[in-house]
Amino acid sequence: MNAAQLERLQEQCSRLRLVKSRERIEALLQEASSQEIPYADFLDRLLTEEVAAKTAKNITMRTNLARFPFVKGLEVFEFGYQPSIDKKQIQQLATCHFIEHGENVVILGPPGVGKTHLAVGLGMKAIEAGYRVFFTTAANMIAVLTRALSEGRLEEKLKHYTVPRLLIIDEIGYLPIDRGGANLFFQLISRRYERGPMILTSNQSFGSWGEVFGDRVIATAILDRVLHHAITLNIRGNSYRLKEKLKAGLIRSEEPTTTIN
Ligand code: ADP
Ligand code: MG
Repeated sequence: MNAAQLERLQEQCSRLRLVKSRERIEALLQEASSQEIPYADFLDRLLTEEVAAKTAKNITMRTNLARFPFVKGLEVFEFGYQPSIDKKQIQQLATCHFIEHGENVVILGPPGVGKTHLAVGLGMKAIEAGYRVFFTTAANMIAVLTRALSEGRLEEKLKHYTVPRLLIIDEIGYLPIDRGGANLFFQLISRRYERGPMILTSNQSFGSWGEVFGDRVIATAILDRVLHHAITLNIRGNSYRLKEKLKAGLIRSEEPTTTIN
């Protein structure tokens, strides 16, 4: 192989957008000729590296688009700290069958027990499986939809939350929702009903959603649709933030846990 040929190969890789191949072809060709690697093995290696690089880039891109508040996978979740979570059930959810079946996942529990972490972790699994995911808090989504309504762009924004295959709505119940907000939330839920799976998290039990949405009728209509095909995880236990504070020596263990969130 001469320099002109190598240059031509690299140029062709660029035209085909084979970024990794362009970068690696020289070294892999040299290795193949010095070690007498069979043609098929050389090609196999080159294409495997190209596919791996493209897959990683695609996952990074879709992770950025998902707008997670932090990027932490299920791999770093300490199941031992939260015995009320069934690890097997989370592993089953991580296979993403619930997305295929159009099921929702509702994660309930007090602050700090890992609701957002689990939602993000499952969202990352969905991205690895090739799905488009979008993360929002309930408050943020309602603010966006409220503004869109006043600007005459509600339809466009509803689509924004309907298009991703998996929508994660975090923190239902942290902030009170007014009647207009509850109506918009209901519209979005209706759009996704039986079409787009969701992961919802809340610090409030279903019985309190009437107060969360400021209207028992709307709350019932929302719950009716959400729970029609849903898996509910009820997390009971201590805040993980408390564990970290204890470890850092910021508080003493005899302090009442209820004061720390
Ligand atoms: P919640 O959404 O229930 O309020 P988060 O998921 O935000 O709680 O968890 C609070 C912090 O503690 C996050 O940084 C999260 O990664 C971490 N965390 C919570 N539970 C665990 C756990 N069991 N193992 C590892 N980290 C955890
Ligand atoms: Mg949270």
